[in-house]
Amino acid sequence: MTTEELVRLIEAEAAWHRMPGHDPREHTVWGSPCRVTIEAIADRAGVARRHAEEAIQTARLEGVPIITAGGIRVAQTAAEATALGDWLDARMDSQRRTRDAVYAAALKLPGPVRPEAPAPSQAHVEPMTLGLVAA
Ligand SMILES: [Zn+2]
Repeated sequence: MTTEELVRLIEAEAAWHRMPGHDPREHTVWGSPCRVTIEAIADRAGVARRHAEEAIQTARLEGVPIITAGGIRVAQTAAEATALGDWLDARMDSQRRTRDAVYAAALKLPGPVRPEAPAPSQAHVEPMTLGLVAA
């Protein structure tokens, strides 16, 4: 699925939700109002959900800021695109902390640690190992 196709599918799905006679109550997703979902995009394209997710990732890399929170759509303002960037930044921080914790856990398990595995960053490991490391 190209980025052009993805954007067209998003627009088609959004238009479908705006059609006259459309009853939003029929499309409630987990208690939220109806909205464009990754599943709906995947269904329209006839692909697996992960393919739709990959298309969103590719679109972002190509400079099309696809927002996924609260319904799939293309950011229309600098503020929306910036908020998406902030959200991705926070997720990256979270992923880094998770990675560091996993590497720290690996050090406590039996067996050799893969030599090329990066050392956990001190910022996260210090609080976790406090009391275990001589000061
Ligand atoms: Zn709907």
